Order: sequence, then structure tokens, then C-alpha cells
Amino acid sequence: MDTSLFESVDEYIGNLLGDEDAVLKGTLKSMKDAGIPGINVSANQGKFLQVLAKLCNAKKILEIGTLGGYSTIWLARALPADGQLITLELEQAYADVARQNIIKAGLDPVVDIKVGRAMDSLAALDAEDEGPFDMIFIDADKPPYTEYFEWALKLSRPGTLIVADNVIREGKVLDDNCDDERVSGVQRFNKALADNKQVTATIIQTVGTKEHDGMAIVVVK
Ligand code: SAM
Repeated sequence: MDTSLFESVDEYIGNLLGDEDAVLKGTLKSMKDAGIPGINVSANQGKFLQVLAKLCNAKKILEIGTLGGYSTIWLARALPADGQLITLELEQAYADVARQNIIKAGLDPVVDIKVGRAMDSLAALDAEDEGPFDMIFIDADKPPYTEYFEWALKLSRPGTLIVADNVIREGKVLDDNCDDERVSGVQRFNKALADNKQVTATIIQTVGTKEHDGMAIVVVK
């Protein structure tokens, strides 16, 4: 597939409406310098998440998968001064870089990074009665996406917006015989989403500077 037009249009949108400032650019640089993989959302996807957070008037956001804090900063910038964002990350080294970026963004008063396996952190959040969240962004390892979704539902209220990234994987979700566990993980999640009567959902395909993929957009009934 020739993706150059998608990339040029993504650049056009970013130049018009992107808001990727020095702090966000610095976040990407800090990740590169620390050898952290560039598997963050794109700038326009970050802005899209920010628009969604504003749209649902989010005061309390949960993110599963912090990496270097790039999407965290986009999302946290949608919060009011008394808002809160809890983000979950497995790797201590990534969380340390993310923390520095969040401090540089002036967002440390509203962002709390919890380091450990997301499954354990989610159980702890539930036990501590941290829910309900207004918005939940699922963007960690793909095999347990269905379980992350089940936890997200537990930590939700009617009207909570749940967004899950990377659920199309360059169309590989069409292949029922794919042996990539990331693909089978999101296939299982997409089916669970379709079967769940508690939510209204769709998936939008995403193209641009990142490979062809998709984001599930889910509202809890
Ligand atoms: N949301 C980030 C952004 O757009 O800037 C990108 C997140 S990256 C796609 C996925 C992250 O999930 C990685 O930082 C990875 O270390 C983390 N991760 C992987 N497995 C995890 C687990 N079991 N628990 C918590 N985090 C995990």
C-alpha cells in the first residue's frame, strides 16, 4: 500500500490543528535518547484523544500503557486543574522517563503513574474504590485486551468513554488463522466488544504517520 498520501495529509492536519508543542516534541526525543520504542500514538491521534476527553468532560482518566508519557500528556491537558489521571506501566525505566516528561509538562499534580503489571494495578484500583473513571484509554500489551476491557467496565459508570488502540493491526484482524498473539488478542477483544450489551461501540480505522490500524470507541450504557 502506498501510504505517502496518508502521511502527507496527517502532516497537513498536524500543521493546522496539531498543538504538538516543545514539551511533546521533547517527550519523543527523551524516549529516543533512552532507547524506548516509538510505539506511542501519533500527534494527531494524541490530539484526537484530547478532543474526546474534552467532549466527555473528563475529570478522572485511566490510561493502561504509559510508555514515555506522550499520550498521557495529551490526555492530561484536557483535565481541569482539580482533575486526575492514573496511568499504568509495567517497565520502571519507562515510568521514570515518563515521570520526568510529565514534570516538564507541569502535569505532575494531576498525573499518578502506577508501576507494575496492569492486571495487578487494575485489581488494586478496584479494591481501593478508585472508580468510576470518566474516560479509560487501553493501550498496553494486546493479548489481555479483553481482560483490560472487563476491568475498564468495572471501573466505569454509565457514560464512561473507553478507547482501545491498535485493534485493526493493518487489517490482520481479518485473518482467522493469524498466529500473532497481538492479533488474536485484539480479535478476541473486538468480538467481546460486539457481544457486550452493556456498551455502544464502533471502531474507526486510523491511517497517517503510523501504520494502518484502528481505535475502538466505546460508551458504557
Ligand atoms: N500510550 C502510550 C503512548 O501512546 O504514548 C503508548 C503505550 S505502548 C503502545 C504500550 C505500553 O504498555 C508499553 O510502555 C509497555 O511497557 C506497557 N505494557 C506492556 N505490558 C504491560 C503490562 N502487562 N502491564 C502494564 N503495562 C504494560
